[in-house]
Amino acid sequence: MKIFRTPIYFPWFFPRRRWGFSSASKSVYLTFDDGPTPELSNWILEYLAKEDIRATFFCVGANAKSYPELMNRMIREGHAIGNHTMHHEKGTKVSKREYIESIKEASNYIDSTLFRPPYGRLPMIYGRSIRKNYKIVMWSWLSYDYDKSVPISEILEEASRIKAGDVLVVHDNEKVMDRIKELLPQMVQIIREKELTFEVISA
Ligand SMILES: [Zn+2]
Repeated sequence: MKIFRTPIYFPWFFPRRRWGFSSASKSVYLTFDDGPTPELSNWILEYLAKEDIRATFFCVGANAKSYPELMNRMIREGHAIGNHTMHHEKGTKVSKREYIESIKEASNYIDSTLFRPPYGRLPMIYGRSIRKNYKIVMWSWLSYDYDKSVPISEILEEASRIKAGDVLVVHDNEKVMDRIKELLPQMVQIIREKELTFEVISA
């Protein structure tokens, strides 16, 4: 049993991290983690342009460094970008100094004051330092697009519970390559049927 919706006590423990937004705007916040990837980002960007949707991309510094033209395209087409460390480090596996260094290195290629910790793992004292320069953006709904043991039909079933103010996570990485093209259009349709609009997360 996968937990798609972030349990309510996470925001209680980490109230200064952004888990979702007010439902008043009737919007959801679509976020793509881990890109850019040459095999997939262009497809995602084409699709979003066709649907007139703006999203927020939490990019890995090493990928941003390798594919600056994809970063430029994201920005040019009205999407927001955020920092997701240089090499997708897990906050519980590296020292605070190394972690902060990784974010700093990534910032050479990702000009943003938004930050999302890979795997959602971030010790509290790391968060305190990062907040001096960044807004830490978590999520309220995780798609499991990367996990092939979760059928797309189940993800769509859970997507029917998406609501205004939700921050949604999908991915722009090789793990989702076979699935995202099938999943994303159906997810978008479900969200549109709820008369919700798509907004970027502003810095
Ligand atoms: Zn990630």
